[in-house]
Amino acid sequence: MRTLDDLLADGVAGRRVLVRSDLNVPLDGEKITDDRRIVSSAPVHDALAKAGARVVVCAHLGRPKGLRDPRYSLRPVAARLSEVLGREVRFASDVVGESAQITTAALVDGDVAVLENVRFEAAETSKDEAERGAFADRLAALADAYVDDAFGAVHRKHASVYDIALRLPHCAGTLVLRELEVLRRLTESPDRPYVVVLGGSKVSDKFGVIEALLPKVDRLLVGGGMCFTFLAAQGHGVGGSLLEADQVDACRRLLADNPDKIVLPSDVVVAAEVSDHAATEVVPAAAIPDDRKGLDVGPDTVAEFGAALAGARTVFWNGPMGVFEVTPFAEGTRGVAQAIAGCDGLTVVGGGDSAAAIRQLGLDEAAFGHISTGGGASLEFLEGRTLPGIAVLEG
Ligand code: ADP
Ligand code: MG
Repeated sequence: MRTLDDLLADGVAGRRVLVRSDLNVPLDGEKITDDRRIVSSAPVHDALAKAGARVVVCAHLGRPKGLRDPRYSLRPVAARLSEVLGREVRFASDVVGESAQITTAALVDGDVAVLENVRFEAAETSKDEAERGAFADRLAALADAYVDDAFGAVHRKHASVYDIALRLPHCAGTLVLRELEVLRRLTESPDRPYVVVLGGSKVSDKFGVIEALLPKVDRLLVGGGMCFTFLAAQGHGVGGSLLEADQVDACRRLLADNPDKIVLPSDVVVAAEVSDHAATEVVPAAAIPDDRKGLDVGPDTVAEFGAALAGARTVFWNGPMGVFEVTPFAEGTRGVAQAIAGCDGLTVVGGGDSAAAIRQLGLDEAAFGHISTGGGASLEFLEGRTLPGIAVLEG
């Protein structure tokens, strides 16, 4: 796979380079509430501009569903990128239309332009290869080379991620390379003990990754909403907790096949409702009252998970341990996250809500080895699935 350094070594002065970045930041109206995706994407734009390229940035924002929707305009993102780069950033008010053509044609060496939200074009995400291809042709016509730096989108067969790389000389940007390097360390001969912590809401979302990782890990610690389907598989009542009845048999089989690897909570925080003022109680995981929901792992579980994590050489964490968004149910996630942060081995966090939990709970992001920017993409990689946006860069 060619890298940004290879492209820079070829010489980019005077060439138009289209960079697919992940600039999908949270917005409150036009106000960017968290700019870290812009900040972490900027170095690739900066390196190319400094080398004299004419940089054309392509990105998506939210889910406009193929329609031009001002709420999802990248204009405020382009303005913030300009501040971060310390240079003027031009903005095209469409993706491949007249504005994009005029804006990109007017670039001089070292200029940067941002195209409007690529998902304003329905063809971007179309399942129809011909429709996507025709759009990719128009996108490719705006540039002479393509850099994919949007790891969060590499599991999508989208025009700006996949089809465009079939049409232009291409390479991987530094964010994509860094993600791949770290994720490969989780799948190819990880240092042991290798401990994976999984939580979040549904076991069905993560069954693929559980099956793929179990043969590789020494311990799989299960918390979050998904633990209740496992507890039910052990024959316990789970009250009103999240339960996927159609997954109980599959969980029972995993437990039978991996009796020493899968570790379930020994205690859980229960309440009658998810609310800031809920009356909570800690109960044994095997004795959840019928009229209560399990909404977090309990303190004994945090201690047990912490002990398993203390000596780990490799840790992957995906999915909060409880409903961390609501204060009475945040302590399990906090405690387990702190144990991971304190671990000396390689620690990797994947998953949008897990990364959000680290921020929301005020934990030190620098204490984690790597926080993946692509939740879905990182899980699909660990499942061993082919990521179209990566496969096409290898071709
Ligand atoms: P990630 O984005 O990190 O992959 P998920 O999207 O799978 O994580 O799950 C995150 C959600 O899981 C959070 O919104 C959290 O409130 C929810 N969750 C965690 N524990 C429970 C629980 N015990 N019951 C219900 N929901 C839970
Ligand atoms: Mg999520």
